[in-house]
Amino acid sequence: MIPETRRRLRDSWGFCERHAWGGLAVEMAFRHRFLLGQTILYADLMERCLDAFNLQGPWQARRLAGRLVGDGHCMMCDMNAYGAGRGYARPALIEQGRRTDDLRTLAMETSSHWRKAVCAVCEGHSGAARCRRHLLEDIARNCRIALGRHRNALQQTHEHLLAYERSFVWGFRDTDRPEDRAALFNAIGWFSGWRPLLALMDETPSSF
Ligand SMILES: [Zn+2]
Ligand SMILES: [Zn+2]
Repeated sequence: MIPETRRRLRDSWGFCERHAWGGLAVEMAFRHRFLLGQTILYADLMERCLDAFNLQGPWQARRLAGRLVGDGHCMMCDMNAYGAGRGYARPALIEQGRRTDDLRTLAMETSSHWRKAVCAVCEGHSGAARCRRHLLEDIARNCRIALGRHRNALQQTHEHLLAYERSFVWGFRDTDRPEDRAALFNAIGWFSGWRPLLALMDETPSSF
């Protein structure tokens, strides 16, 4: 990944909800399970996110919010606005890129490892799990926040992402476990929100 792209993705904590999950679906439509690029990206973002949780002293939740808010831009939204109307891609290629079967299959295989991390607000119930955006909303409303619990969950996700990343290295092939693959879902859900994945799991196989 070129440094400018990486910097922009760090500033925005990844993509908007639709493009984060759509991007993973497109990767899987073309590369199946060779998800090294996505894994490197989210391991990097998660490492920086854990740094953001490293706080001492007063007003920790407020200070964390300042670090986690991001610049609000989605690189893909910006690129689409810029490139609108430049329809060079062939229809068959576009159709393949819209396929979500592989993403749905991987999500079903690993669901026992990501289900408990799903943000309760994204899903519409009263549980304690939060995505980044809904944690920020809680902080803005002065809700009581268990920062240590969120940090521990993210730390685990980071460790599984590193194990998943290593499994793409020659000599470590096929060492990844379902919980390592599920960490990609946990990371995307945390940074961008869960609703597109939840919608995908609720419907019959189709496309975004
Ligand atoms: Zn977007
Ligand atoms: Zn949420």
